[in-house]
Amino acid sequence: MKVLVINCGSSSLKYQLIDSETEQVLAKGLCERIGIDGALTHQPAGKGKIKSEPAMPDHKTAIGIVLEQLTDKENGVVESLDEIGAVGHRIVHGGEKFTKSCIITDEVIKEVEECSVFAPLHNPAGLIGVRACQELMPNLPMVAVFDTAFHQTMPEKAYLYGIPRKYYDEDGIRRYGFHGTSHQFVSGEAAKMLGKDIKDLKIIVCHLGNGASVTAVEGGKSVDTSMGLTPLEGLIMGTRSGDLDPAIIEFIANKENKTASEVVNILNKESGVYGLSGVSSDFRDIKAAENEGNKAAGAALDAFIYRVVKYIGAYAAAMNGVDAIAFTAGVGENDDATRAEICSYLGYLGAKIDSEKNDVHGEAAVISSDDSRVALLCIPTNEELMIARDTVALVK
Ligand code: ADP
Repeated sequence: MKVLVINCGSSSLKYQLIDSETEQVLAKGLCERIGIDGALTHQPAGKGKIKSEPAMPDHKTAIGIVLEQLTDKENGVVESLDEIGAVGHRIVHGGEKFTKSCIITDEVIKEVEECSVFAPLHNPAGLIGVRACQELMPNLPMVAVFDTAFHQTMPEKAYLYGIPRKYYDEDGIRRYGFHGTSHQFVSGEAAKMLGKDIKDLKIIVCHLGNGASVTAVEGGKSVDTSMGLTPLEGLIMGTRSGDLDPAIIEFIANKENKTASEVVNILNKESGVYGLSGVSSDFRDIKAAENEGNKAAGAALDAFIYRVVKYIGAYAAAMNGVDAIAFTAGVGENDDATRAEICSYLGYLGAKIDSEKNDVHGEAAVISSDDSRVALLCIPTNEELMIARDTVALVK
């Protein structure tokens, strides 16, 4: 079956058409500046990127343009839309209602809307994508895959915040976690690479991209993860602060005469390694600045690494051991120096990185030495493939 995977943001939309039998990507692309003017990058498998600037006043128009590209005589990859068997949608927040992926019904849409309080930018965008696809392909089954679902196995002790219980009971304020599709995919791949049953493994997955999170996966289930009610908690990220003393919000609000929302916006968009370095949110730019002697850039990277190291320690403790630590996403897959620095703190676990094996970028590899007590792995994530797999499993 050919599955269209849609990842819809407020002004952008990523797509992939995946053949579920071969798991090959037939075409992929990105619509940007939706609602502003419109920019499309379309890439059929084995060909270069094709860029154009069709008007995209709304998401429905953008998806219509994507469907035209997929069936285009010259650059298309299917003869007609009838060849597409289902659509899988990435939805960010599934609250406590969604513990796994599901077929999209009116009821599901209503429940996703209810979860929008915790993801006010992401969930509505996801639903706009769902509705646009429903209008353009009314007979096709659609599946929702949630970033939070994999973490619904966390025990209460891991997801409760130490605040009055009523905020959880009445408002659902708790830790939910994100990047679940990636953590599930990567932990599954880690077990395959080690030739072991995931049920017998304790794995720590470090998803280190612009957004970053660490998850403790025990027996194939998420038992703790670093992001919380929203993706702001946990690691120091590209532009997000991660963990901090909540009193800082009051301090900045008072000092700069800002509302709580304005301060949280600073914590989401102007903080992290970007805010600390004052250079960029892109790790490559920050490294270049560090190499040119920028001390703040070096300190930002050190703080990022140190926070990852602390979470690894916390999760090794939470699981009473760890068999494998997997690195994924932009930094985790490509930045061997950052992987090596993180692992340099892990001697107490008996983890030893092999510098030659660690010289990998964007490919799956074991990067630990043969005598390492913990397997260290580099594993490219593939959230789209995971969405396609879930979609096929549900519509078949
Ligand atoms: P997201 O999906 O959250 O936008 P990605 O997983 O694509 O993020 O990761 C993007 C980050 O990965 C960027 O900050 C980029 O600098 C970083 N990155 C990509 N390649 C490298 C590399 N070779 N060295 C260091 N950082 C890298």
